[in-house]
Amino acid sequence: MAGPRKALLSADFLSCVRVGPLVKIRLMDTEQKLNILAESSKFDLACACKPKDEPGRVRGVEGRWIYPAALPNGRKMFLLKTLQTNTCVNDCSYCPFNCQKDSRRVTLAPDDLAQTFRQLHHAKLVEGLFLSSAVVRDAESTMERMLATVEIIRLRYRFKGFIHLKIIPGSSEAAVTRAVQLADRVSVNMEAPTPERLARLSAKKRFHEDIVNSIKLINKARWQLGRQNTCRHTTQFVVGAAEESDKEIITATDRLYQAYELERAYFSAYQPPAPQEQSGVLFQDAQPLRSQRPAAADAPTFMREHRLYQVDFLLRRYGFARDEILFDTQDRLPLEKDPKRIYADTHPELFPIDLNTADREMLLRVPGLGPIAVRRILKLRRQQRIRQLEDLKSLRIHLPTVAPYVKTPSRSPISTASVILEPVANETFQEGLLF
Ligand code: SF4
Repeated sequence: MAGPRKALLSADFLSCVRVGPLVKIRLMDTEQKLNILAESSKFDLACACKPKDEPGRVRGVEGRWIYPAALPNGRKMFLLKTLQTNTCVNDCSYCPFNCQKDSRRVTLAPDDLAQTFRQLHHAKLVEGLFLSSAVVRDAESTMERMLATVEIIRLRYRFKGFIHLKIIPGSSEAAVTRAVQLADRVSVNMEAPTPERLARLSAKKRFHEDIVNSIKLINKARWQLGRQNTCRHTTQFVVGAAEESDKEIITATDRLYQAYELERAYFSAYQPPAPQEQSGVLFQDAQPLRSQRPAAADAPTFMREHRLYQVDFLLRRYGFARDEILFDTQDRLPLEKDPKRIYADTHPELFPIDLNTADREMLLRVPGLGPIAVRRILKLRRQQRIRQLEDLKSLRIHLPTVAPYVKTPSRSPISTASVILEPVANETFQEGLLF
């Protein structure tokens, strides 16, 4: 095919203008492609961006491609977050880049992406990279491209900083192992909590063979390479796209923590596409259309996402077991009250606790007390007896929240808030039921 004609059909084609007898073709440069691919990557959250850091998933004008990320040590850094390509053979119904949608497709070559990252890093605009991708032909060739990008950054440019690399479900063991060697964090998106729920989202993705197996391979590689502490792994669920229940998501999340040493799970509220997105027009003056939609319509979904994050913290940081989490009769987390308070209000036999004698585990179950506050209380207890609730004032603890659930020598607790839920009967979750 002749050059110009080939370019006209290429995904890199930007515009053409007729000038007399000639047709002038403009191709996208790397920056224009990166603009589109970085914009596309906003749908992927598994990069430790806290939801509160990204209200409505919209980035600031000054940091179009740059996302804040929290590291395990609590340090924040800015990442270049982008896809290698948004061309996809898959059919995930919730995704604006699935093969049935008519959106602009672009791909960055490993050299171009690596070089752009290097320039941004040298300019001190980013400290690390989050690289994800749609599936351009199959999992293996997509992973090859992503690995080639990261190899250039690591080996040619000798970048030693933070890299988060997405693993494409169904990748070979060799590709997963190489990713674990090169990256500081890797992740595979679960998307749905069970095979049945995933089948509602995609006819092509396989729950066990592709997704769960990739998670197993990651864990195996981390242990084989001695990288359990230096290469973390995470996942992400789409919330609300497959009519899954909160209980299904929390049960799957807990299984991942127990069986595969997952660092953490992310929950992304599904937002049905706006009419413009349905017609395939994804970007308008480079602003995501979702940001123009009324926030009120999305509020319950975001509150659901928020409750899932709260439960996730209870499981990971507060020592709660999965069967201590309460759901309503339809397996949903109540939206009107936070799950820790529900737990406390439905266990009158445990509360109020004695602030001077309760152990760390029980203190962590008090609404309003997190790990830092508990550490401060334990330190204070080593220095003095806590005589009144006001002794906690200097510890930066919100006393009205804590008051109904604790007692001190000088006071009885305020009567506890009314109980809104009855505990559901504990279920036995059979080993291997999910995966
Ligand atoms: S694999 Fe699914 S979620 Fe990922 S880009 Fe393709 S269609 Fe979208």
